Amino acid sequence: MTSSTFTQNRQAALGAIPSAELISRYDRPGPRYTSYPTAAEFKDTFTESDRLAAIASAAPGPLSAYIHVPFCSSPCFYCACTKVITRRLDMADAYVNRLEREIEWVGNQFDGARSLQQLHFGGGTPTFLSIDHLSCIFGSLDRHFGLVTDSDREYSIEIDPRTVQPTTMAELAALGFNRASFGIQDFDPDVQRAVNREQTPEETAALLDAARRAGFSSLSIDLIYGLPKQTQDSFTRTLDQVIAMQPDRVAAYSYAHLPERFKPQRQIEDADLPSAAEKLGLLLLIGRKLTEAGYVAIGMDHYARPADTLAVALTDGGLHRNFQGYSTHAALDLVGFGMSAISRIGNCYSQNARTLPGYYGAIDYGALPIERGIRLTHDDRVRRETIEQIMCRGEVDEAAISEQFGINFERYFAAELAEMAQLEADGLVRRLPGKLQVTAIGRHLLRPIAMPFDAYLRRSAAAPTLHAPPVRRYSRTI
Ligand code: SF4
Repeated sequence: MTSSTFTQNRQAALGAIPSAELISRYDRPGPRYTSYPTAAEFKDTFTESDRLAAIASAAPGPLSAYIHVPFCSSPCFYCACTKVITRRLDMADAYVNRLEREIEWVGNQFDGARSLQQLHFGGGTPTFLSIDHLSCIFGSLDRHFGLVTDSDREYSIEIDPRTVQPTTMAELAALGFNRASFGIQDFDPDVQRAVNREQTPEETAALLDAARRAGFSSLSIDLIYGLPKQTQDSFTRTLDQVIAMQPDRVAAYSYAHLPERFKPQRQIEDADLPSAAEKLGLLLLIGRKLTEAGYVAIGMDHYARPADTLAVALTDGGLHRNFQGYSTHAALDLVGFGMSAISRIGNCYSQNARTLPGYYGAIDYGALPIERGIRLTHDDRVRRETIEQIMCRGEVDEAAISEQFGINFERYFAAELAEMAQLEADGLVRRLPGKLQVTAIGRHLLRPIAMPFDAYLRRSAAAPTLHAPPVRRYSRTI
């Protein structure tokens, strides 16, 4: 595939707005598809020997690594991340000690020639760890896998601007980081107070400037729309401030309000939340402002400057989706380290223990902290590819999938394609010979377009007593 429907639809998308009636029909809970099957389908019968088998049969070559640092010094009320709130900086020593052991053990399971082309530190707050701690982890990764220094490497870290000094950016660059994402969400003081996360545009701008001077090659800003007290006026000001900082990428995520699942969200007043129509207005505002400022819309949630590797991957068909959102390196096996980290190796996903005692307990016992996972079936792999093409290319190449998996796409997905007739009548997709294409309107509703291809959701709908209904697991799609 040489180009994506998203690229062709970019200009058309600016003027293509779903009606309020269409939104109310399609605004329903659904997965974000950073993996398929989603983590909700992982089983605790998956063990270390299952993952060893996956490692043994995985393709050779470079790897991607994710390091989860769970600590934060205060809770942001919207947050759904796996984290530990503490102000005890000494907790970092114990955590890094376990991380180093895990890195050594997993490194020994690979064949020893697996350099890390991609590395991401997420959280929590990665900079809860000192530079010395981060340096220890880099040393372990280099000894047991192998770090690279070429400019193609993607070594990234999530930065909480409230906790990092500009001088720290040079220290992070000296360690090897060349990409950073800055958590902002919204600069409006009322919104910031409502979510317990107060930071100024000035301190964030100073950090971006320091990162550029230190040699970081890609800087990203994270925003969230749908937060309490947010209005189109206030978010216009935030977007103007963000655009003035000239980040290479902007990620604008939809706030998922699930207070029954995430305790800090109970601090947020329902009455302060924008309605579904107001939230759609914010989504469209983001698309319009960023596109007018020269950014390219990347599938769902992400925007990048035209020369950024994500925008280039969108054009040449090399875009993938992983746990960090969109990526150009998803073909690499991903090894996750730390509490709750997820790995994708060969045709398996596995996840580490999701609590600190569980993670420490396994390592101290001398075992890898794998808590659950899943080995993908042939059907999972067919559906994963189909869903990824919807999310990353806005177009499903039915002939290519038929050939890759030895199926007849039309027959295999007869029921799903029959459901597409309604989406086609609503203007979300277009059936062409050998193709299912997302329209300019449909690109605002990628999750509802992908959901009919999700076998687990289909089974859940057919047998609600056996599975939690989707409404309890997932955020709404707008
Ligand atoms: S949003 Fe980030 S900093 Fe805030 S509580 Fe969640 S993980 Fe911690």
